[in-house]
Amino acid sequence: MPKFKLEYIWLDGYTPLAGLRSKTQIKEFDSFPKLEDLPNWGFDGSSTLQAEGKSSDCVLKPVAVYPDSTRKNGVLVMTEVMMPDGITPHPSNSRASIPDDPDAWFGFEQEYFFFEDGAPLGFPPGGYPAPQGPYYTGVGYASVGNIAREIVEKHLDICLDAGINHEGINAEVAKGQWEFQIFGKGSRNAADQIWVARYILLRLTEAYGIDIEWQCKPLRGPFGGALDWNGSGMHANFSTKHLREVGGKPYFEKLMAEFSKNLDEHIAVYGPDNHLRLTGLHETQSIDTFSYGVADRGASIRIPHAFANNDYKGYLEDRRPNSAADPYLVAGRILKTIEAVPTS
Ligand code: ADP
Ligand code: MN
Ligand code: MN
Ligand code: MN
Repeated sequence: MPKFKLEYIWLDGYTPLAGLRSKTQIKEFDSFPKLEDLPNWGFDGSSTLQAEGKSSDCVLKPVAVYPDSTRKNGVLVMTEVMMPDGITPHPSNSRASIPDDPDAWFGFEQEYFFFEDGAPLGFPPGGYPAPQGPYYTGVGYASVGNIAREIVEKHLDICLDAGINHEGINAEVAKGQWEFQIFGKGSRNAADQIWVARYILLRLTEAYGIDIEWQCKPLRGPFGGALDWNGSGMHANFSTKHLREVGGKPYFEKLMAEFSKNLDEHIAVYGPDNHLRLTGLHETQSIDTFSYGVADRGASIRIPHAFANNDYKGYLEDRRPNSAADPYLVAGRILKTIEAVPTS
């Protein structure tokens, strides 16, 4: 029987940004293991801010499994952290709070910066490249440098090999800034995939000596001109069965009223430092205002034309979550707000 390398991945207890951790377990299986074949495992929670030293065991419960084409017989195992009883979710387990809805669909647009020696990849030492303009979806050495696209392509291939449902990739507005989009059906599916895609990107860039900067506003020059650079978002596109199949303007307006009422609760889980990014500039709404509009990239929620033209049926885009947000918390909060609105 082949020996499989099972890489158990979990989120640690760091705040406001959980870090990714992983370790390998070797196990024999006849063929590529299914989720139900994978045992729970443990780790030392006192080293990850998840337990006290005197009672340090935490449990890793597998929740999703992906082939790892970078390793012979490699398996990526996304897990949730549980208390020692194996049943109670650990307080750091943000996934456990997501309402279960197989018909909820999410598409996340993950933006991020490549960083090298503390600056965005491609920035000249101690200085700035030409102002933003040519970088978004750009091509050529002057726009994207000589290494970013190689990493982006490798990342895409590893993710596709793993069965991660990438829908696209693009170079973003700032130099050294990129995006990938992942779509999934089921309330936790896309968020699981985002975390695994983040893990794969971090692991891939180790060998290049390049960091991934998830923070939402790494460059903070004044608006306009050469020191002005976009921040990074993680737009959350969402739909439920009711939104896709019934919709209607009255329901939509009730839903938006509920989003407005819960402005603070949403912002609380849409990623740290978001006040630096949600300024009302750079295609954002300001952090203390809730708004929505058709095709409006300066609104909190953008209504796609297709939604408005189809009797308010389809999906909506919440533009506020940032690049460092935990997609589990984002998906959970959006579904909680939706659940509070009666569908009839
Ligand atoms: P933009 O950059 O213009 O906002 P993208 O093409 O980058 O748009 O992202 C659109 C996102 O919308 C994708 O992540 C896609 O998966 C998602 N999406 C499309 N249809 C649905 C749907 N019915 N429910 C949820 N998300 C959806
Ligand atoms: Mn996009
Ligand atoms: Mn984008
Ligand atoms: Mn978007």
